[in-house]
Amino acid sequence: MPPPSYRWHEGQYEVTRSICWSPPGCHGGCGVLLYSRDGKLVRVEGDESNPFNNGRLCVRGLNTPEALYHPKRLTKPLLRAGRKGENRWREIAFDDAIEIIAEKFLDIKARFAAESVIFCKGTARDIGGYLPRLCYGFGSPNYFGFGPGNGNACYRPRVAVSTALLGSLLLPDLGQFDSSGAKGGRYIPPKCILIWGANPIHSNPDGLHGGWVSDLMKSGTELIVVDPQRTWLASKAKHWLQIRPGTDAALALGMIHVLFKADLVDKDFCRDWVIGVDDIKAVANEYPPERAARIAGVNSEDVVAAAHFLAASKPANLIWGVSVDMNPGCLGTIQGLIALMALTGNIENPGGMILSGDPFGVKRRGDDLSDFSDVRCPRIGADRYPLIEIGNPYGQPDVLLDQMESGDPYPIKAAWLQGTGVIPSSFADPRRVTRLFSNLDFSVLVDVFLTPAAVAFADVVLPAAMYPEKDSIYVHFSQLSAINKAIVPPGQCRSDAEIILQLGRRIAPDYFPWEDIKQWLDYRLEPSGMNFAELRETGSLRPAIEYSKHDQSKLRNDRKRGFKTPSGKIELNSSVIRKMGLNPLPHFSDCLFEYQHKYGKDDYPFTLTTGTRKPYYFCAEHRHMASLRKLQPNPLVTIHPETGLKTGIKEGDTVRIFSPFGSCLMKAQISDRFAPDVIHCDFGWWFPEKKGDAPELFGVMQSNVNALLPSGLQGPGGLGYPFRCFICNIEKAKNR
Ligand code: SF4
Repeated sequence: MPPPSYRWHEGQYEVTRSICWSPPGCHGGCGVLLYSRDGKLVRVEGDESNPFNNGRLCVRGLNTPEALYHPKRLTKPLLRAGRKGENRWREIAFDDAIEIIAEKFLDIKARFAAESVIFCKGTARDIGGYLPRLCYGFGSPNYFGFGPGNGNACYRPRVAVSTALLGSLLLPDLGQFDSSGAKGGRYIPPKCILIWGANPIHSNPDGLHGGWVSDLMKSGTELIVVDPQRTWLASKAKHWLQIRPGTDAALALGMIHVLFKADLVDKDFCRDWVIGVDDIKAVANEYPPERAARIAGVNSEDVVAAAHFLAASKPANLIWGVSVDMNPGCLGTIQGLIALMALTGNIENPGGMILSGDPFGVKRRGDDLSDFSDVRCPRIGADRYPLIEIGNPYGQPDVLLDQMESGDPYPIKAAWLQGTGVIPSSFADPRRVTRLFSNLDFSVLVDVFLTPAAVAFADVVLPAAMYPEKDSIYVHFSQLSAINKAIVPPGQCRSDAEIILQLGRRIAPDYFPWEDIKQWLDYRLEPSGMNFAELRETGSLRPAIEYSKHDQSKLRNDRKRGFKTPSGKIELNSSVIRKMGLNPLPHFSDCLFEYQHKYGKDDYPFTLTTGTRKPYYFCAEHRHMASLRKLQPNPLVTIHPETGLKTGIKEGDTVRIFSPFGSCLMKAQISDRFAPDVIHCDFGWWFPEKKGDAPELFGVMQSNVNALLPSGLQGPGGLGYPFRCFICNIEKAKNR
């Protein structure tokens, strides 16, 4: 039994129950016990009473004290004292910093318009629950997520397309919900999980703990893994399809072809709940397994076997990773993957795919733009790419960059950048992005360390608290928990929400009536019927799951049976997407072929893929931590042994990886985890130990794989970007 309170004493320690959420950490939301003594965090343990991680912790979570007490941590607001890039700062009081920012933002609003100020966040952290109110309350629609930016190529494509086809995002049912009162049948463990471009063991993405997968494997769940990399999960899978990066839609269509050809489609489910089945059959007819396999670089027998196994293993579900989004063909891919689940009848069934919602009615993503009727200007990119307004709306960053350059239709003058490093991992063509942000009149960064972006273009830098130093809430599909402050933050650090509240009271007072963060937390929690004090005493809450909601009139606003789509059915031929002038059916376009054709396959014979998660780093975080850096001191380029022999590159050599647009340097790791023609590069690297002044900027351009990608490669609908599927060549670096 867990102790009854969120805080208690064990010997000389005060123990506080909380949730790990970057910084430092990741997306996960693991339950932690924070052991402090004399006001100092001494160690972190996994909270066994938290059903999310059941006491498990990764090395980043365990490493929290090192991050908290790092000597380079920001503890005071900084005002730029030299030219941008000079890395000269003056420490100022927090209240003075807020006043400077407020005056500048209000002045820009008066002289130009509120929309000339953009509000941006990175990935993870709890900022998303708070920042939209600051942005929209100020009067700007221009709220952005830069994790990464181009093509909104992280998560948002899956949310948008899933919402268009079914009404909300599909989640795999892995037992994460409280099924004790489940209607329509209790939880049944999946017989098969289709893991597509994901490695949840390392990434613990989006409120999904990788440990759930290994637990299910122990009790008999089998895996189909589609991944260019032989991950641990791939090595344990019943079927591993080592896909050529960027060809996902072709492979999905090949599997769909097999479902129809072998009469494996769930006809009853499709008859009652799906439209577009014949249309999709016609598209898939073009992708017999031999053709799909040839495109995807796999064996056709494996395509057939995987499709048969998926259809025979009910319930089955899908864990789809960010690599699905990091492809300009993501629209067609996501449509195809949803079709695989719908055609096999794995929607809203125990152990299948579940339509998501906010737990206990508490909004995960903060306020909606539609609630701010005085913001009349459309979000940047919404005219050209209306799909970005569906599901998980943010501005379209590629359009933003063009507008920053042209000033058309209005100039962008200032940026609020909270928890986003911008340069190491957010954008292709990082030099252009650095230049564009440096040209702004005024930029504010909120972070925990001085980053390359802060030095390059910030006018004011505000120091943020880390998760053990703040009260907040962790809200994700299957969890509502209190983040409890265990210790006082150092210096003038404040929580992200407190910073937003303080600025909000100054620049948008009508929308920030709260005097302290507890009042705002109580407001956010109102739909749950609890206040913050009650939530923190209750511990981590899981919403009860309900299956077959479509059949119980639980999804539509009009309370009719069916899905929340125009037809009330799952629209595999999507009317929403068709209306936007986009292809409403799954489709494949070979972006790699196109790039190779354009730039020369002989000059760029390799497929560049990036972004594999490492257990010791989260995106651009954690490079300061000596104990984590020991585990991997340098960015690595992974090269197949055959390719190593052909190019003369050996383990540990410094390698130059280059494309027609740029290059970077990384250390060679020789491994057969990837195919011989695939080159994998780490991402998010910078070197806090190096010089900060421009042009060095902590070495952020030296190993920046995004420098190989140009601007303007976003996919149809403004979604997706070829971070995982571009062209490159490699050579041993000279004089290294
Ligand atoms: S998986 Fe993420 S949330 Fe969990 S302990 Fe590690 S860093 Fe923290």
